[in-house]
Amino acid sequence: MPVPSKCAYADCTSKQVQLHQPVSKALRDTVYPQMEVHRYRCLKCRRTFRVYPPGVTQAQSSERVKGLAVMLYLLGISYGAVSLALEGLGVPLSKTRVYETVQAVAARVPGLKREEVLEASQDQSHGRRFDECEMCWAMAASGSDRR
Ligand SMILES: [Zn+2]
Repeated sequence: MPVPSKCAYADCTSKQVQLHQPVSKALRDTVYPQMEVHRYRCLKCRRTFRVYPPGVTQAQSSERVKGLAVMLYLLGISYGAVSLALEGLGVPLSKTRVYETVQAVAARVPGLKREEVLEASQDQSHGRRFDECEMCWAMAASGSDRR
């Protein structure tokens, strides 16, 4: 667990922080259902903030689950099927969240195409970058949290 070297608030420069209390955070992850999060209090501004272990953010899903979602998508699985596969692993992620996760990764990796990963793809709808594919947009726009 990283120990913060200063107060987490940008407008405070205090280096004096004190472990306030450990808090458990429910986490969607294939390995750790719960993760210990440390809560610190700044001795100067008196505000508290949380420190997360590496790979865990304030988001409900860990980086591991997001990575898994993107990997499954790149293997040629549809957003909906990725969502179902993750649900089967006990880490439910809606189709919309799968889509958003893939888009977030695509934004960091310009020109990412799943055809480059899966050369023999039979999926004609993905002959273009998936962020230009109207089927993907339609799927994401159709609201996919329904089961
Ligand atoms: Zn402070």
